[in-house]
Parts: sequence; structure tokens; C-alpha cells
Amino acid sequence: MNFSKYRVKPGSKVDLKDWDPDDRSTSPGSKEADEKRLIELAARLDELQELLYAEAKRGVLVVLQGIDTSGKDGTIRHVFREVDPLGVRAVRFKAPTADELAHDFLWRVHPHAPGKGEVVIFNRSHYEDVLVVRVHKLITEAEWKRRYELINGFERLLADNGTLILKFYLHISKDEQRKRLQERIDNPKKQWKFNTNDLAERKLWHDYIKAYTDALAATSTEWAPWYVVPSNSKMNRNLLISSVLLDTLEGLKMQYPRVKEKLDGIVVE
Ligand code: AMP
Ligand code: MG
Repeated sequence: MNFSKYRVKPGSKVDLKDWDPDDRSTSPGSKEADEKRLIELAARLDELQELLYAEAKRGVLVVLQGIDTSGKDGTIRHVFREVDPLGVRAVRFKAPTADELAHDFLWRVHPHAPGKGEVVIFNRSHYEDVLVVRVHKLITEAEWKRRYELINGFERLLADNGTLILKFYLHISKDEQRKRLQERIDNPKKQWKFNTNDLAERKLWHDYIKAYTDALAATSTEWAPWYVVPSNSKMNRNLLISSVLLDTLEGLKMQYPRVKEKLDGIVVE
């Protein structure tokens, strides 16, 4: 499959209306068929992660961003469910602590960058520092604009050091968010996820969309592209992210390392 239509071309203008959050074209089958496919993709991801570790030349960083309820946690749970827990690490970024705020915005992020052989998933990321802080006017326009350059430079540094970076914006509609927030209110098993502040944030929907639009346009680069993932359907979201990840990893043409000693003819007794 060709996923280039979901990729934000470096240097291009972005209008999120160009992607339909309801697009389900990556999950064309029945629920059962799609579920089976997702498990197959997850199992292949496990194999490729092992190869990544064996080869020990590169790391992989997966950045997940999206408005509240867009499905960041669910993506991690489903897409990586077959991957060896030793080979993958998920990191979530909450509002910064006083100590973190006393430093530059990348200070808390850099230590979590993947080492060679490792897959790291960011649930939220350094992008919050050009999104939520912009929407709430915690920094000036000059500051968030400057941060785009700093982010591109930071990601360039990681990429130059052998990190493959893939960034996914989970694209849901405002009405889908309404349904998901309502479900959190109505379902006793989901109420713990609900925070009345989520309703205040929802009122800022258009400010968030604007901030995402600018961030995607300014920071989709050859070395760290953004993908806009239609996410009203959770299955479409999971299958698309799995497919892009696999496609990219297969493209690396990784090899198991050659062993140094000659092993021919050795018999273990
Ligand atoms: P959750 O992902 O639902 O656990 O919520 C994490 C919260 O932390 C969200 O409301 C984010 O907007 C907030 N957050 C994450 N990073 C930052 C940041 N750099 N500055 C301010 N708030 C942040
Ligand atoms: Mg939340």
C-alpha cells in the first residue's frame, strides 16, 4: 500500500480538512478480518524489533500526538501488543514539574531518546511545548516559532545518530471527541479517565487545531515526517500506524549481524 497521502510533505502548507477523520480505507475488512490482520502486523513488528536489536545500528522513535481522547493510549496497547516488552519502552509526558520548567523544554525529553536497538514510543512529547503552551498563551508567538527550529534541530541530532523518527497525529473529528467524552462520563469503567478540565479544553478545539496545523507544517521533515492518521475508527488508526511502521522498518533492509567465529561444524555436546 502507498501511505504517502497521509504523510505531510516537508515544507508544504497544511490544512487538516484535507484529511477525513472518518476515512476507513486502511481497515476494509470485517471486524474479525481486520483484527486478525492487526495481530499479524503486530507479530511482524515483534520480529523486526528483534532484528533491530540484533543489528544494533539504529533506534526507533514513535511520537504520538492528538487532541484529548484521540487514542494515544489505545494505539500503544494495540499496535505494540505482540512486541517483546524488553524491546519497547513507552514514555508519557505530563505537565512539567518545577524542576523541568527550570530547564529548557527539551531537557526532560532527550534522556528518553531510544538507544540503538530500542523502540521508544512517546505518548505526548516535546510537541506539547508548541501546542498546549501556545493555546494557553504560556509563551509568546516568537517563542513557539523559535521552538519549531529547535525541535527540527533536536530531531536532526537524533536522526544523525541513527534514530528513525516517525510522528503520528491522531486525527479525530469534534463530534467523535464529543462521543468519546460522553462515554467516559457514562461508563463507570471509564469515569476515572474523565476530568472536568477536558470540557474546558474542548472549548479550545479551534485553537488546538490551529496549533497542530502550524506545528505539522513547520516540523514535518525528511528525517522526521508527520503522518496524519484518520482516527475516528480505532481499527483504521491501528492498522494504518502498524502498516507505516512496518513499511518503514522493512525499508531499512536490516540484517542479522555476521558472527565473528566460524561456526560451521561446531556440535554442542
Ligand atoms: P494525559 O496525556 O491525559 O495523561 O494528560 C497529560 C497532560 O499533561 C495533558 O493535559 C497535557 O496537555 C499536559 N502536558 C504535557 N506536556 C506538557 C507541557 N510541556 N506543558 C504543559 N502541559 C503539558
Ligand atoms: Mg487526557
